[in-house]
Amino acid sequence: MTKGNFPIEKLKGQQTPFYYYDAALLSKTVETLKASADKYGFLPHYAVKANANEKVLKLIASYGIGADCVSGGEVLAAVKAGFAPEKIVFAGVGKTDWEIEAALDSNIFCFNAESLPELDVINELAGKKGKIANIELRVNPNVDAHTHAKITTGLNENKFGINLENLPATIKYVEGLKNLKFIGLHFHIGSQITDNNTFIPLCEAINKLQGELQAAGVKVENINVGGGLGISYEDPDGNPIPDFEGYMSTISKHLQLLPGQKLHCEPGRSVVAQCGTLITKVTYVKKGTVKQFAIVDAGMTDLIRPALYDAYHKIENITSNAPAEKYDVVGPICESSDVFLKDNEMNGTQRGDLLAIRSAGAYGEIMASRYNLRQLPGAFLSTEL
Ligand SMILES: *Cc1c(COP(=O)(O)O)cnc(C)c1O
Repeated sequence: MTKGNFPIEKLKGQQTPFYYYDAALLSKTVETLKASADKYGFLPHYAVKANANEKVLKLIASYGIGADCVSGGEVLAAVKAGFAPEKIVFAGVGKTDWEIEAALDSNIFCFNAESLPELDVINELAGKKGKIANIELRVNPNVDAHTHAKITTGLNENKFGINLENLPATIKYVEGLKNLKFIGLHFHIGSQITDNNTFIPLCEAINKLQGELQAAGVKVENINVGGGLGISYEDPDGNPIPDFEGYMSTISKHLQLLPGQKLHCEPGRSVVAQCGTLITKVTYVKKGTVKQFAIVDAGMTDLIRPALYDAYHKIENITSNAPAEKYDVVGPICESSDVFLKDNEMNGTQRGDLLAIRSAGAYGEIMASRYNLRQLPGAFLSTEL
């Protein structure tokens, strides 16, 4: 029996809960990303933090795109998975010494730096190794991404980036440090952006900034517009591959690159979200006075997005054909926020059924914790089962 794209019999043989990654969909998604990137002249760097599963990373790396890392652990994992070091960028407000040293030793493309003290430290550590570190400055463009407050990053009130008024002085500062080379500007305004028009104010802010910098005689080789492209959590089957084409055509239409400039982007969620499903088993069906609950063996420790961001994930019962009923799908963790979805309509459910929590490939497995001393969820590529 298979339902949708799920090989039910094979899934039944695994210990639940576990992440199931559709390798064919992931491949097709990266191919589509690459085709659009080639068409519009983007250099994509996959944002490793969305999903750093070793097999997923290897598959993405095999297509030759770059990686965007936000920790030393991610830099090392990206190199190990086969991403070319000269295509790895390293961002983050709080890079520690060992992380900077690991990135220098790996000969990555550049550091996306965010503060003067950070620049001093990278300069000092690069100097000790006799290296010159490439620097892109992360700029806070004060552009609203119109997304959930917890995933908005480009406003002046956020901790990220260098404010526009401090930028010219910061570029001068980089140019004054012997072991640093200023090579570009980096932006990232937020995540799960589903309206491509949201990127237009970002492009306009970059154009304005470029005009000012050009007038001041500053040369900028690289523009990195970050990540943020959203996906359809409501309809994963109708929209399995995100609209990379629309995203890139919007940006290339509104962003005025200067001659010779290279354009980078850092898609995370859009690359991996739809290929991943959290498979969980129903432990009990509990009938309350006004509700019935499907209590499953996955919890917020396996997928924290609903509890952390009020995120919606579509949930299907993939082993039942019984008429649909409404269930609150909840986990076993001792927290009231351990609820995946309330009043979810799905096929009539009993103990032992498998539920598919869809669109869970991004910010799912990687955010799992051992709270309640639980085991971490398993993970399989479709090609392994
Ligand atoms: C998280 C992050 C990304 C990826 O964002 P998505 O919304 O998953 O595409 C890209 N760049 C930076 C700097 C990030 O922090």
